Amino acid sequence: LTVLGIETSCDETAAAVVRGPLQKQILSNTIRSQIDEHSEFGGVVPEIAARAHIEILDRIVAEAMHEADCSWEDIDAVAATAGPGLIGGVIVGFMTAKAIAMAAGKPIVGVNHLEGHALTARLTDDLDFPFLLLLVSGGHSQFLLVRGVGDYERLGTTIDDAIGEAFDKTAKLLGLPYPGGPHVEKMAARGDVTRFRLPRPLLDRPGLDMSFAGLKTALRTQAKKLEPVDEQTVADLCAAFQRAISDVLAARTRSALEFFQERHPDTEPVIVVAGGVAANQEIRQSLLDAANAAGARFVAPPMALCTDNAAMIAWAGIERLRQGPVDDMALSPRPRWPLDSQSAGVLGAGK
Ligand code: ATP
Ligand code: MG
Ligand code: FE
Repeated sequence: LTVLGIETSCDETAAAVVRGPLQKQILSNTIRSQIDEHSEFGGVVPEIAARAHIEILDRIVAEAMHEADCSWEDIDAVAATAGPGLIGGVIVGFMTAKAIAMAAGKPIVGVNHLEGHALTARLTDDLDFPFLLLLVSGGHSQFLLVRGVGDYERLGTTIDDAIGEAFDKTAKLLGLPYPGGPHVEKMAARGDVTRFRLPRPLLDRPGLDMSFAGLKTALRTQAKKLEPVDEQTVADLCAAFQRAISDVLAARTRSALEFFQERHPDTEPVIVVAGGVAANQEIRQSLLDAANAAGARFVAPPMALCTDNAAMIAWAGIERLRQGPVDDMALSPRPRWPLDSQSAGVLGAGK
């Protein structure tokens, strides 16, 4: 199967052509980030995002097709993110995909963006079901048990901010540019991690839920006391913040792996990390350590496939199509669409 994928749920306009499922090959993976459009506002502005998607999506799709050296005849289906995400952008991408599918006479697959993240590791690595997924991005922070395509069980989630969101808000608070994650990481590398002590929210409680809003508030309180905050203090605060997040994730990962081993005693435990926050080296290392300590395999797709991209959407389309025919022409774009409400091919849940 050769599938054109389209992704527009947030602030990247992306298109890709992927071949699979047996001989897996990314024929093209084109992406344009809108960071410049949004940076002066310190976050993604939905209306600006939707307009930027409209302006550029045609060209991005043409580029992806050209780079893959594909004509419409070579494509077996069009897959596009149908949610969850900023609804304006989702509408632009999914409707464009429907139009292409209709004009070219190909089936359309409406992909859950989170399913794209969840299945990416099966594109890049040799990986069977079931496995554990830690999805950490700008909009989501959750542990999922991935039992199969369309078969997900959410084991725990943040009860307030997503981790990427916490990084972005913390960066803003400390006067660092948007998106905050990479800047906080850079500052943290020069910081003294012992100077500030931040809480590890919820870790005294069982289960796999997490909380990050309190962390940001605690950091703000400490920063306020020291105003005006000098550069070294910013670095020290970043180091403390990053360490607190890493500790929480490592502890929860250990518990998640214990749960997995109880549930699937005869399966090699695997933890996959996905989402933009997975770019963070300290977080990656602490997850790797947690996996090693539990005798589990740790899988992290290459960075370009961890953050939002269209190859993962095309691949999720391939995974759905290999199970049987798909026709999502009647599906509507949806701003919210929890992954665990979905069963294979039946997109009934969520309104
Ligand atoms: P979602 O996928 O949940 O809809 P999104 O599109 O914002 O949200 P991604 O593009 O996967 O998610 O990730 C972006 C987020 O990752 C941002 O919040 C950004 O700050 C964070 N991030 C990127 N690099 C790093 C890093 N090195 N350390 C920490 N966080 C990072
Ligand atoms: Mg993004
Ligand atoms: Fe994403």
